[in-house]
Amino acid sequence: MRTDPRRPAYDPGVLALPFYDRAHRALAESVDEWCAGNGELWDRARTGDPDTVGAHIIGELGAAGLLAFLDPASDPAGSDQRSLCLVREILAYTEDLADYAFSIQALAATPILRHGSTAQRARWLPPMSRGEAAGALAMSEDQAGSDVAAIALRAETRSGGYVLDGHKTWIANGTLADVFCVIARTGGAGPFGLTAFLIPAATPGLRVYPIDMIAPRSMARVVFEDCHVPADAVLGGLGGGFVVVMDLLERFRMTVGAAAVGFGRRAADTALDHARGRKAYGGTLFDLPTVRASLADAEVTLHASALLVARAAWDADRGAPRFATQGAIAKLYATEAAQGIVDAAVQICGAAGLVKDAPTERLYRQIRSLRLYEGASEVLRATIADTLGHRTGSAATVPAEIGVGHVSA
Ligand SMILES: Cc1cc2nc3c(=O)[nH]c(=O)nc-3n(C[C@H](O)[C@H](O)[C@H](O)COP(=O)(O)OP(=O)(O)OC[C@H]3O[C@@H](n4cnc5c(N)ncnc54)[C@H](O)[C@@H]3O)c2cc1C
Repeated sequence: MRTDPRRPAYDPGVLALPFYDRAHRALAESVDEWCAGNGELWDRARTGDPDTVGAHIIGELGAAGLLAFLDPASDPAGSDQRSLCLVREILAYTEDLADYAFSIQALAATPILRHGSTAQRARWLPPMSRGEAAGALAMSEDQAGSDVAAIALRAETRSGGYVLDGHKTWIANGTLADVFCVIARTGGAGPFGLTAFLIPAATPGLRVYPIDMIAPRSMARVVFEDCHVPADAVLGGLGGGFVVVMDLLERFRMTVGAAAVGFGRRAADTALDHARGRKAYGGTLFDLPTVRASLADAEVTLHASALLVARAAWDADRGAPRFATQGAIAKLYATEAAQGIVDAAVQICGAAGLVKDAPTERLYRQIRSLRLYEGASEVLRATIADTLGHRTGSAATVPAEIGVGHVSA
């Protein structure tokens, strides 16, 4: 729910910059209106079972046309990165599960969109874009999180197809997914022995176990035991799994930065409202210099974060060779900044900010994972440092020795 229904969930001043055009401004306005008009849904997200509500939100996003870009048959123009970032920012400002539903659906469908065969695209993209089927990306394992090259899940050739044995963990929307994009090892050690597979959740030998996290969201461990899939389950070519992953992460890291802007702005707005209304020392908290300074710092870092996200998305949309680095910079800065803003918002709200289900209490739990997934902050620093000596293109096209150890979901 909004802190102030008249306040947009994004900064129109940033959208007025030349990074954006009329279509982006119209999109932001319509998504903001859609979010503001769905208060009951966000109330349910706060109190309901995250699997049930998450699946419902995917359906609502589909019905509203917000996932249409995932299917070229219903939206031939698709989405650019700026639009993806704007939608995530506004959804994250509104409700964590809304951003989660949107982002994971896009994360799972994008490999199909960019690397799928005609048959794979025809089977999965229409229902995913209507919100009638949910997807998940299954990459991480117990011993292979940041170190994607260590993925151990085996896919052995047998009877003209493949048999998978092993596990995946920390799989977002894993408990409600209809289809998994799974990264498995078909070849030797290292990143280029990996292949992506598209595997329906109902496939015998695939089992899902829920995991409870700090912020209630669908999360699962997925176990494969003698799991047979046909040869046409391969997505993007044998040995192409690493390219599928990198291509995806390079585009999505900046969107995590955008979500961080949304979470951070929501926290800053909540703190500002509290500071203005809270009586103290014959005035309000907003009269205190340290509180004003804290709110000013939040404003400055939010502006910086929004600009870094805009630059990364704009670079990606214009095909700039180093857009992946800009995405890493935007994610690193915006997620670290948002963590600080949420913490400062709790401080300004005092004890009231830590009451269960208060906006700041929820944000405090929700923001933490953004500094870990799709590239932990330390991994991103290493990736950015790597590029200082190699001013080359995207990681999907650079030589294997660059950045291979710094790949993360
Ligand atoms: C909310 C959430 C959603 C997720 N969704 C998915 C999903 O949908 N699909 C999926 O496959 N995975 C998902 N993950 C897993 C996520 O990708 C991993 O948590 C992430 O890759 C980090 O891996 P790890 O947790 O094993 O930590 P590790 O890789 O063990 O890293 C732990 C810490 O070690 C340090 N570190 C690691 N590598 C380096 C390095 N190269 N340089 C410097 N320091 C380093 C960092 O401080 C890092 O935070 C999700 C995780 C979360 C929290």
